[in-house]
Amino acid sequence: MSALATALDLAVRAVPVLPLRAGKLPFGNCTRCADNACGGRPTMKSAGTCTCPNVCHGWAAATTDTATLTSALWAGYWRQAQAVAYHPGGAGLTVVDLDDADAVVWARQTLAATRIVPTTRGEHWIYLGAMRSANAVRPGVDIKSTMQYARWLGPGAGIMSRLPDAVRALVEREETTPVREEVVSSVSGRTEWDRSVATGCRHTERYVRTGLERGLALVRARTESGAGSQAFGVAQFLAKQHTTCPGPCGLNLLGQQVIATAVSVGVPESYASRAVANGLAGAA
Ligand SMILES: [Zn+2]
Ligand SMILES: [Zn+2]
Ligand SMILES: [Zn+2]
Repeated sequence: MSALATALDLAVRAVPVLPLRAGKLPFGNCTRCADNACGGRPTMKSAGTCTCPNVCHGWAAATTDTATLTSALWAGYWRQAQAVAYHPGGAGLTVVDLDDADAVVWARQTLAATRIVPTTRGEHWIYLGAMRSANAVRPGVDIKSTMQYARWLGPGAGIMSRLPDAVRALVEREETTPVREEVVSSVSGRTEWDRSVATGCRHTERYVRTGLERGLALVRARTESGAGSQAFGVAQFLAKQHTTCPGPCGLNLLGQQVIATAVSVGVPESYASRAVANGLAGAA
């Protein structure tokens, strides 16, 4: 079946869909929507009034409207489409995206049975009910529901069950709380990374500091939500830079700085510590 035929088949079953380009990513915004200059679509977090008929704004382009899906404008996108994505939240669903075999083992031990769709290296577990999305709620586990897209990889097998509280809890524990001054100061009082602790590191001080600064900037940019997930990703990225070093590289101190930055934008310290520890361990 062509990507468009698959998409129409889903749309008539009330599943909002969009085409994905090469790399299995959404198409970029058109020139009018570039950098969100249009203000964004009404369904987006930064709700605007954009009614752009192009496939703009990632997941927010997903639609069940067959006239849009079959429009001349979208025909060009479908011709280049490499895959079909859907907006799980818009269909009242949540996808627990398990990226690898370890994550699948965890799900089998922890979560209620439901419909399962095999993916390249893992599985999508699909539940009835929508929730807030979040990346890296555990090593190799993303929650894709509202304001997210998931690749359509076929209907899978099994009967969908209701979204378990255990899945909701994975995201809720990451909800940011108001920053408490004493927490911030206790964290930022810790020692920062410097070359003297990294006696077995192959990299220059500049290389390590540049990686760290880029990572901290990413965490700081997530002031509304997702800073905990970002901290996990940054910790994993930093640890990966040193997988071929004989060590020690002072990774724990780099991790402390990521934790301090995440806490400074409102992530609870216990969550930030866990996310960073998982991130550092995940790269090994
Ligand atoms: Zn546009
Ligand atoms: Zn727009
Ligand atoms: Zn190193």
